[in-house]
Amino acid sequence: MSYDDYQIVLGLEVHSELKTKTKIYCSCSTEFGADVNTHVCPVCLGLPGTLPVVNKAVVDFAMRTGLALNCKIREFSKHDRKNYFYPDLPKAYQITQFEMPICYDGYLDIETEERGKSRIRIHEMHIEEDAGKLLHEGTNGTLIDYNRGGVPLIEIVTEPDFRSIEEARVYLETLKSILKYIDVSDCKMEEGSLRCDINISVMKKGSSEFGTRTELKNMNSFSHAIKAIEYEYKRQIDELEKGNRIIQETRRWNEDKQITESLRSKEEAMDYRYFPEPDLMPIVLSSDRVEEVRKTIPELPQAKKERYQKEFGLTAYDADLIANYKKVAAFYEEACTYGKDTKNIANTIISEIYKRIDTEEEKEAFDMPFTAKDLGDLDSLIASGVIGKNIAKKVLDEMYETGKKPNEIVEEQGLKQIDNDDELRAVVLKVVSEQPQSVADFKAGKDRAIKALMGGIMKETKGKANPEKVQAFLMEELNK
Ligand code: ADP
Ligand code: MG
Ligand code: ZN
Repeated sequence: MSYDDYQIVLGLEVHSELKTKTKIYCSCSTEFGADVNTHVCPVCLGLPGTLPVVNKAVVDFAMRTGLALNCKIREFSKHDRKNYFYPDLPKAYQITQFEMPICYDGYLDIETEERGKSRIRIHEMHIEEDAGKLLHEGTNGTLIDYNRGGVPLIEIVTEPDFRSIEEARVYLETLKSILKYIDVSDCKMEEGSLRCDINISVMKKGSSEFGTRTELKNMNSFSHAIKAIEYEYKRQIDELEKGNRIIQETRRWNEDKQITESLRSKEEAMDYRYFPEPDLMPIVLSSDRVEEVRKTIPELPQAKKERYQKEFGLTAYDADLIANYKKVAAFYEEACTYGKDTKNIANTIISEIYKRIDTEEEKEAFDMPFTAKDLGDLDSLIASGVIGKNIAKKVLDEMYETGKKPNEIVEEQGLKQIDNDDELRAVVLKVVSEQPQSVADFKAGKDRAIKALMGGIMKETKGKANPEKVQAFLMEELNK
């Protein structure tokens, strides 16, 4: 038996907290990290006699997300109660959308090396409220922080369209970057603002009949999710190979033991007794309102990536590294309007600037001590031959430290490239006469000697010699 005889099938349900200022059915703040139970009111505490009202911004954020994910928007949708008894839910039901989710029938196109382009269909997307957070205090028992109760969530449910773990990973990354681009969520897995339920099944390769699935609940870390899927995939195959059947159940990842373990089976699954929420009006959306929201969607990372390849001549890889971060992309595009060589500007960002900011957060914030125009101007100085690429790195260092303008730095430190032929020839002659050993080495066929000579020339000119010219003069001299 080989694991390769089996095909994995995955479907994802992603929960993402919306970054509206206030909660979904009351006006409490959604701010993360406040003192426990300070962002609460009678509505989100579920006190009797209170009535919820839908936050209009939540509806707009949901529409924006749905449109960015190519969904249809329902002109008439409503809310439902999902009943379950657990202390994180003071009303003993969660207000969600069950029967008529606000968005449906969308898709997200992704690309992986193994399968190329694939379309992940989005079955539906709905809005709902988050629950409170249980704080397990050891012997003091369990306390509850209701600040998170009533924070707006969207849940995005895909069809079982993933055929590899890599596809699921790319989908999550792409989804995250879209949600950030359209400014609806921070997608911080560590703060729980992005969580994911993963449905997994396996089938024999070539089969068209899906196997029974299990569900991994509430994965809130990328690396745990990947490990959990890998484990679960093998576990299911092992079971089938032993002649057992897969039980449809909910499982959870045990990070300590590095295994998935059963939480509850389908038979034990809760009956949520869904019914329409009687305290809320349905959501009625005119096509005008949908169009208004559509206008607020910026160019998305995938479209940017393609445009950068066509318009700026970047490779897909480089285009991705820039388009993925909204602020970097904006900075880059602005720099290109001032500079000349769009590929060089991209390279400067990817190799010189990213070297200094390697975390995702830093790339997202992209807080530069100089402006996009400065970066463009730096490129123009190279393009017009005022400085060489090596000196440009030095100038960039200085821009970083002092925030000074590139031409100012070049002036102040006398970094202008030496371009004058007579001057350059004189330096070549000087270095050649000072390094007879290198010249002898070159004549003996050691090409490496050129490096030593070029090094001498650059040292002599403090790196400012026009490298192409000086190399040509040097060869002329050596071949005499
Ligand atoms: P439920 O109604 O129990 O929530 P759904 O049909 O809505 O079930 O599916 C829930 C999730 O499970 C979806 O993301 C879907 O893509 C995924 N899914 C359904 N069948 C399979 C399967 N055989 N293998 C993997 N994922 C599946
Ligand atoms: Mg479900
Ligand atoms: Zn409240």
